[in-house]
Amino acid sequence: MEWLSAVSKVFFFIAAGGVLGWYLGGAMVGVTVAALAVVFFWSRQMWRLEHWLRDTSDSPPDVPGIWGEMVARVYRKHRSAETTQKRLQSTVDYLLDSFSAMRDGVVIVHGNGAIRWCNEAAQRLLGLQHPQDIGQLITNLVRLPEFNEYLDSGDYAEPLVFETTGGTRLNLRMVVTQFSDGDTLLFLSDVTEVVRTEQMRTDFVGNVSHELRTPLTVITGYLETFLGDVSSLPEPYARGLEQMAGQARRMESLLKDLLWLSKIESTEHRVKNDQVDVPALLVELADEISSIYPDRPLQLEISCQEGILGEYRELYSAVSNLVLNGYKYSGPDGRVFASWRAEAGCIRLDVVDQGIGIDPVQFPRLTERFYRVDESRSLASGGTGLGLAIVKHVATAHGAELKIDSKPGQGSTFSLIFAHTNKR
Ligand code: ADP
Repeated sequence: MEWLSAVSKVFFFIAAGGVLGWYLGGAMVGVTVAALAVVFFWSRQMWRLEHWLRDTSDSPPDVPGIWGEMVARVYRKHRSAETTQKRLQSTVDYLLDSFSAMRDGVVIVHGNGAIRWCNEAAQRLLGLQHPQDIGQLITNLVRLPEFNEYLDSGDYAEPLVFETTGGTRLNLRMVVTQFSDGDTLLFLSDVTEVVRTEQMRTDFVGNVSHELRTPLTVITGYLETFLGDVSSLPEPYARGLEQMAGQARRMESLLKDLLWLSKIESTEHRVKNDQVDVPALLVELADEISSIYPDRPLQLEISCQEGILGEYRELYSAVSNLVLNGYKYSGPDGRVFASWRAEAGCIRLDVVDQGIGIDPVQFPRLTERFYRVDESRSLASGGTGLGLAIVKHVATAHGAELKIDSKPGQGSTFSLIFAHTNKR
């Protein structure tokens, strides 16, 4: 206990002063002089300590006793805080250095939208300038509506892919991460090449499908002419021609779906602003279904009269694909229900069947092109393997979520869930 020893020393010193004073003829004078000496000594040490604390970069004062001990402790704490700060600073410098060296753009944005830091790649990709743009609102500098809307939305679950304007047009993919108290970290990667390749693939599929249509039309035309007089043909020829006509029809519907899919893909990012009356769309579809399955009409339950903003033909094709799948993958008596209803924050379309169902492990792959759970059954049902890929594209283009709920042998429910902001 250093303080106890220091206090004992003080008492001892004052007592010694008293004894000396008594010896010289005035005990109280001796005590007073000793106490004043103690006060003077402590005040001086306090002054030296306070003076040093003002600027701890100087070497610490050489003070005796408890004061020396206090100075040593403060000095040790200060040194350790300094070391920690240096370590933190070097970690921050290291991170900023690695961010700076990245080929991807990194921007740190304050909660109020002002740029706090950006690396060189971000300056190049977004046309930002360092250090002039630090502290400026990022939405004032990157003047792209989809970029601003995305940042304002606060929903960063899916990355944003957008095209820059200006001299060299780039396709950028942006991932936003929130941290600290509302600050955000924007990661930008250049996906121009990927988008270009994807575009070439879409164009290629579209062009090939288009080119194949004319020869196929000629072939089916001749086949139908020959089949018109099938009774005059020998049996093996007649059977062969019928099979050829069947396969030609399959190819026709495949080309039709491929062309439609590439059209939807090419217009996926275009704003779809028509007012689509979904209840009327369902009634039109039910009419079409009753001509295909007259004894099994589509059962409708429309409990919401609202429509949505979108593209009628695309939505019609998505819903009819879901409904026709319901029929295709049910027994000959299977019923299909479609409902349109509003829920908290969304409007949903459910297509429910009581058919063969699907094992949930298949769900993630169902919307891939040409993916079939059971190849032989799908071919027998006349499917092209593109139906759910079309549905998925239409859903994405309309900001809707495609949900699947099914179990083998217990039917399936396919739902398109539209955000309420999408309603008209
Ligand atoms: P297809 O033209 O083969 O029907 P889709 O893309 O529409 O292609 O569907 C993909 C696969 O998902 C189908 O081959 C089928 O196995 C399965 N499927 C789709 N809808 C249903 C459903 N309502 N019930 C059971 N299986 C389904």
